[in-house]
Amino acid sequence: MSRQRALVWFKRDLRIHDHAALVAAQAQPDALALFVIEPEWLHSPECDASHVDFALGCLAELRVALGQLGLPLLVRVGSAVEVLAQLHQDVGYTHLLSHEETGPGWSYVRDRQVAAWCKSTGIPSQEFTQTGVVRRLGSRSGWAARWQARMDAPLQLLHGGFTAAVPLDQPELPTLASLGLAPHGKTLQTAGEQAARRTLKSFLQVRGYDYRKALSSPLTAEDGCSRLSPHLAFGTISLRTVHQATEVAIANTPDRTLAHALRGFAGRLRWHCHFMQKLEDEPSIEFDNFARVFDGLREGDFNAAHFAAWCEGRTGYPMVDACMRSLVATGWLNFRMRAMLVSFASYHLWLHWRPTGLFLARQFLDYEPGIHWSQMQMQSGTTGINTLRMYSPTKQAKDQDPQGHFIRRWVPELARVPLPYLAEPWKMDVSVQHMAGCTIGVDYPAPIVDDKVAMKAAKDRMYGLRQSPAARKPASPSPQGDLFA
Ligand SMILES: Cc1cc2nc3c(=O)[nH]c(=O)nc-3n(C[C@H](O)[C@H](O)[C@H](O)COP(=O)(O)OP(=O)(O)OC[C@H]3O[C@@H](n4cnc5c(N)ncnc54)[C@H](O)[C@@H]3O)c2cc1C
Repeated sequence: MSRQRALVWFKRDLRIHDHAALVAAQAQPDALALFVIEPEWLHSPECDASHVDFALGCLAELRVALGQLGLPLLVRVGSAVEVLAQLHQDVGYTHLLSHEETGPGWSYVRDRQVAAWCKSTGIPSQEFTQTGVVRRLGSRSGWAARWQARMDAPLQLLHGGFTAAVPLDQPELPTLASLGLAPHGKTLQTAGEQAARRTLKSFLQVRGYDYRKALSSPLTAEDGCSRLSPHLAFGTISLRTVHQATEVAIANTPDRTLAHALRGFAGRLRWHCHFMQKLEDEPSIEFDNFARVFDGLREGDFNAAHFAAWCEGRTGYPMVDACMRSLVATGWLNFRMRAMLVSFASYHLWLHWRPTGLFLARQFLDYEPGIHWSQMQMQSGTTGINTLRMYSPTKQAKDQDPQGHFIRRWVPELARVPLPYLAEPWKMDVSVQHMAGCTIGVDYPAPIVDDKVAMKAAKDRMYGLRQSPAARKPASPSPQGDLFA
């Protein structure tokens, strides 16, 4: 094929605005766009039908938007190399353009296979950055400045449309059913680039006002946090767009409270990449304890009944159960309550972070491997560096849901339990249980472990091990040194 044609391979960058690969494609006379629904993704233990559903919603919108620009979006099901090879045979293309991805292990393998295939077929492949993550980073020194430079760089915007020369058959998008997936039953945030931009706007103009105060309680965080995380995970908005819009909002508002709130938010955008960089540098943190001295600590003790109770929100601790049920129903939970769920699983129930992390990855619509596995390890105490944070579920209930609204909403069995007992319903005597219509052990479980006993046992084990010199530094130091600092 002599005519130059670019293939833009969409992955976790389902947008038009600030899309470097799309902009680069305009340099070719002709272009095509592709999204591959990979069986490796669908069958991975962290994938949930809700993720696929959200992606399909994004693709439906993206296909229309790209069509209006004259660029057909092909959506194919299959392994990436197979799809790329078939498309090359069917319609031909001369350049492969995409964004870098810091993904889970299977995507790393996929990227290597695609690179090898491109090399063997002589197709130039170019990957563009879209976050602050630096590939093959030698040292963390200077990383913050590089992050800033990338975020401050001009947005990559299209000028005009495309002229696709190949008439392409674009069948209907697959459905969950056609992909063999059962309905997920969650009420998800709206998918797509337009929803992402609306979400950003409403946060910067109105919802962000109480951000710092709203962060910790699941009641206030629902509206007071940005709720951009699924959009950042699926790339319906770029981090640079969010960063630059936030800086403009801070500079333009005369309201010091809003400016202060938005500065707190802006800092978290940096954390996003900071944690993704960890996975980029140390892909094994998805599977192995960061500090290998913790190997064997929890591996032998997995209690399947406790795990099931935690997953199903029936541990007998109302705040834990309310948070889990809310997460399972909506695909989102605020940071502190995520940390509490993990703390309860890792310390009270002494469950290993890998199976609990996989379950949570499926529940979080915003599953972002670099953030997720770093946080799973930090909240489970296996980095060997961070301060141990063990949350008391009853204290969290009293602090973050003082009127009991969140618990009553998500644990309806407790709806009539008097407020003084709501965080610890097992303390109700039989007559109060009767009046509340909630018999402990029948209508709502008795606590599956004793809070104080379990916390003490966990502290003894963790602090005992952490005192050993080997626990103070990771067993396999990385070139980046204090990776979790
Ligand atoms: C165990 C555990 C697992 C987590 N897994 C994920 C995950 O898979 N994907 C994910 O996006 N976040 C994860 N987080 C971090 C955090 O809980 C979410 O980013 C946040 O709740 C998303 O809601 P938001 O967009 O409204 O956040 P906001 O508070 O509005 O923050 C804006 C953005 O900043 C980034 N951010 C915020 N907090 C953090 C943080 N602590 N670390 C890194 N980046 C942050 C996210 O990109 C977020 O979308 C996890 C936290 C814990 C404790």
